[in-house]
Amino acid sequence: MLLGEERAQIVAACRRLVADRLVVGTAGNVSVRVGDLVAVTPSGVDYATLTAEQVGVHRLDGTAVDAPLAPTSEAPMHLACYATTGAGAVVHTHSVAATALSCLVDEVPAVHYYLSMFGGRVRVAKYATYGTPQLAENMLAALGDATAVLLGNHGAVTLGDDLAAAYDRATYLEYVCDVALRVLGTGRTPRLLDDAELATVTARLAGYGQPR
Ligand SMILES: [Zn+2]
Repeated sequence: MLLGEERAQIVAACRRLVADRLVVGTAGNVSVRVGDLVAVTPSGVDYATLTAEQVGVHRLDGTAVDAPLAPTSEAPMHLACYATTGAGAVVHTHSVAATALSCLVDEVPAVHYYLSMFGGRVRVAKYATYGTPQLAENMLAALGDATAVLLGNHGAVTLGDDLAAAYDRATYLEYVCDVALRVLGTGRTPRLLDDAELATVTARLAGYGQPR
C-alpha cells in the first residue's frame, strides 16, 4: 500500500484524538506529507472503524492518487500548510479550551512558557466557514512563522516535522489555552511572560531532554 506506514500512523492519531478529547465525533483531521504526496483523513468516517486503506493519498494540488473516499472537507487547509511551510504533518482539532479561547482573543496570551515551543506568537485566524478556501487563507495569514494557530470559533491547527511532533503540539496548545481561559476567567489582569523570556525558553527547549 502506498504510504502504508503513514496511513497507519494517521489512523492511530485519529483514535488518540478522540481518546484525548481533542475532537468529538468525526471532527478534526490529520495529514502527513511525504515528498509531493499527502496522506489525509477521509471525510466523515468514524475513527473507531477507520482503516489505513480509507486514508487517502493525494498530490500537493489535491489530485487523488490512491483515495477510495472523499478527503476531509478541510483538505484545502492542510494543503495550504504544505504549500507554504516545510511541515511534515498537520493536526487539526476542535479541542475545547483552544476553541473557547479563539472566541475571546486575537492571540494566545503568554501565560505559560510552553508557548515557546510554537516558534512564534500563536494567533487566532479570522473566522470563515469550514472547508472553504477562505478559511485556509485566514489560517495561513494568522500562522506566520509559528507551528500553531487557532481558528476563530472553530478549533486549532498544529504543524510538525512529523506526526508525533504535530500531535504533541496539539496537546500542549490545549493545555496552554486551558490555563489562559482560567486566568482570563478570574477577570483580573494576569502577569504575562515577555518576548525576551519566551526567546530564552525557546533556546533552552532546543537542548532539552536526554543527550543522544
Ligand atoms: Zn474543523
